[in-house]
Amino acid sequence: MSHIAVHQNKAVDYKALSALCPFGAIVVDNGHIAVTSACRMCKLCIKNDTRGVFELVEDDVAGTDTSEWNGIAVFIEIYEMKIHPVSLEMIGKAQELAGKIGHSVYAAAAGEKIHTAHVEELLHYGVDELYLYEAPELKHFRIEPYTAVFEDFIVRRRPSVVLVGGTSIGRVLAPRTAARFRTGLTADCTILDIQENTDLDQIRPAFGGNIMAHIRTTKHRPQFATVRYKIFNMPERITNPTGTVIHCTLPPAKLNSTIEILKVHHKEKVKHLEEADVIVAAGRGIGSRENLKYIEYLAELLDGEVAGTRTLIEAGWIDPRRQIGLSGRTVRPRLIIACGISGSVQFTAGMNGSEKIIAVNIDPNAAIFSIAHIGIVGDVTKVIPELIENIKADAAADVKADAAAEGTAERSTS
Ligand SMILES: Cc1cc2nc3c(=O)[nH]c(=O)nc-3n(C[C@H](O)[C@H](O)[C@H](O)COP(=O)(O)OP(=O)(O)OC[C@H]3O[C@@H](n4cnc5c(N)ncnc54)[C@H](O)[C@@H]3O)c2cc1C
Ligand code: SF4
Repeated sequence: MSHIAVHQNKAVDYKALSALCPFGAIVVDNGHIAVTSACRMCKLCIKNDTRGVFELVEDDVAGTDTSEWNGIAVFIEIYEMKIHPVSLEMIGKAQELAGKIGHSVYAAAAGEKIHTAHVEELLHYGVDELYLYEAPELKHFRIEPYTAVFEDFIVRRRPSVVLVGGTSIGRVLAPRTAARFRTGLTADCTILDIQENTDLDQIRPAFGGNIMAHIRTTKHRPQFATVRYKIFNMPERITNPTGTVIHCTLPPAKLNSTIEILKVHHKEKVKHLEEADVIVAAGRGIGSRENLKYIEYLAELLDGEVAGTRTLIEAGWIDPRRQIGLSGRTVRPRLIIACGISGSVQFTAGMNGSEKIIAVNIDPNAAIFSIAHIGIVGDVTKVIPELIENIKADAAADVKADAAAEGTAERSTS
C-alpha cells in the first residue's frame, strides 16, 4: 500500500496545488495542504507539480508478517433469530482450508442475545472458538457497531483468512472491515484454496465471466473473501463438538451509531430461488411471453419454481429475483430443467452445481448440453407440453393404482 505525502515546506501556491487533483482530493486544511480520502492514487499531482510538493510513499504496513496471523475465521450472520445458511457453508469451507494447513476455525457472531441453540448449532458444525458479542445496540444490523465488533474480533484473534457470506449484510460489512486493516478483499469467490504459506487462492469469474481471475493477497493479513449462498456445500454436523465459547464486550462508545432504527417493516415472504428443490428455467428459445405458461405449469406440477435467463428478465417477462447466473442468483437444486437456454457462461455460473440438469434446446450444438445430464434436442414448445402430459398421465396412473390397492386391501379386511 502507498499514500501521497505532502512536503509542506515546498507548498507555495495552495490554489494551484489544489487544482492539480481532478478528484478534489487536495484541500487546504488548517492552513496546510492535505490529501483527503478522496485520493484515487492517480499520481497526477506528482507528475504535474514541478516543486516536488507531493511524494509517493510506500507504507510499511504493520501486520505484514504473515506468520503472526493464524486460523480461518467466519463471520456468522444471524438475522431474525436464524443463522443464515451461507454462514454454515462458510464454516464447512473454513474447516477444509484449516485442515490443509493445520489451523483452527474461528467464528464471530453478534446480536442483542445469541440463543443457546444457535451457539450449540455453530459448535456442532465444527467451530473451534466462537466469539460472541451481545449488546442491545447489536439487535439490528447497523454498520458502525457491527464493524467495531468485527474489528475487535480480528484484533483479538488475528486470523489469516476471514470468510463472509456474500449477502446484503456481508457485502457492506466485509469491505468496511477490510479497509480498517488496509488489506485485500475478493468478492463473490467461486473457488477457494490455500497454500502451505497460508496465502489464500481466491478464484472468481471476471470480465463478464469470460475469464476466471486468480487473486492472492500475499503481503497483507487478514485475507478477506466473500462467497455467495449455495456456492459451497453444507458441512456435516459433528456429534461431539469440542469448540469453546468466548464472550466479548466492547466499550459503549464503540457501539454508537448514527443510524436509528424507528420501525422494521417485513418484506412480503417470498420463497427464495436458492432454496428450491426443483427449478424450471426459461430462455429466449421459449419464443413468447405467452409460452411461459408451459414453464409455469411444469414448475407447478413438479412443485418447483420458475426462473429465467437475463434475456427474459430484461424483456420483463420474469421477475428479476428469478434470474439465474453471474449477475443473478446461484442455485443448486436437485433438478433444473433448462428450456430454450443456450448455456452462456454467465448463466451456467449460477446453476452448474445442480444435482440433475435436463436441457431442452432445438440446436444440438447448444453449449447447455455440455453440462446437462440429460439433453433433449427439440422445440421447447412441443417438448414441454408433451412432458406435462406424460407427468399428468403417470400421476393419474399412480392415483388409479393406489385406489385399486386400497380397494383390494378393504376387500381383504372385510
Ligand atoms: C456481465 C454480464 C453478466 C451477465 N449475467 C447473466 C446472468 O446472470 N444470467 C443470464 O442468464 N445471462 C447473463 N448474461 C447474459 C448472457 O451472456 C446471455 O446473453 C444469456 O444468458 C442468454 O440467454 P438465453 O440463453 O435465454 O438466450 P440465447 O443465448 O439467445 O439462447 C436461446 C437458445 O434457445 C434455443 N432455441 C431457440 N428456439 C428454440 C425452441 N423453439 N426450442 C428450444 N430451443 C430453442 C436456441 O438454440 C438458443 O440456444 C450476462 C452477460 C454479461 C455481459
Ligand atoms: S494522486 Fe491523484 S487523486 Fe490523489 S491527490 Fe494526487 S492527483 Fe489527486
